[in-house]
Amino acid sequence: MQGYIIDIKKVRDDDLIVTILTESQVYTCYRFYGARHSNINIGYKIDFELETNIKSTIPRLKDVIQLSFQWIFDTEKLYCWQRFIKLFHPHLKDVEAIDDFYFNLLDKLVHEMIKQNPKRAICNNYLELLDYEGRLHPDFECFLCESKITKNFSLVRSFVPTHSTCSYSRKFDKKKMEELYLNKNLILFNDSEIEYLWNILLQGL
Ligand SMILES: [Zn+2]
Repeated sequence: MQGYIIDIKKVRDDDLIVTILTESQVYTCYRFYGARHSNINIGYKIDFELETNIKSTIPRLKDVIQLSFQWIFDTEKLYCWQRFIKLFHPHLKDVEAIDDFYFNLLDKLVHEMIKQNPKRAICNNYLELLDYEGRLHPDFECFLCESKITKNFSLVRSFVPTHSTCSYSRKFDKKKMEELYLNKNLILFNDSEIEYLWNILLQGL
């Protein structure tokens, strides 16, 4: 089966606990250290098998083959990708069965990042994730004062809308915010604004 590595934890010597997001499950598995193993890292897409053993509580990861991306040697793209995909681990904590939306979103994003600026592509796909989880707020109600936002548009963690005067955060014009919340489109946002959204995204999904 195939999946994306969303977390790796080192345990005893060089053994690893690896968390993998597939089309239908989030698996936590154990990889014993061995020189013959292929190199694995956060964000890699892999083909793998799991071996269950009655003696251990978590399955063993084996037969790993890395499925490369076109941009795998582009350090900026890989860095952004890894920072984004790491956020899925706390976000999907305690989740086992999942909808294929997440896997498909990552597949689509890998493809879009061939041509697009990585932060822009990631922020755009994050809007789709928020929409899918019913967490986009096209009603423009300020999270802090609970009144309607008609000017001083801003946003905080999870792109929740606020008045810039309530959250002391960067102000965006109305047209841009409408494009973001209503059309899930960031085309009007310049690179500096994308950088700002990127830093909000890094606070957590
Ligand atoms: Zn407010």
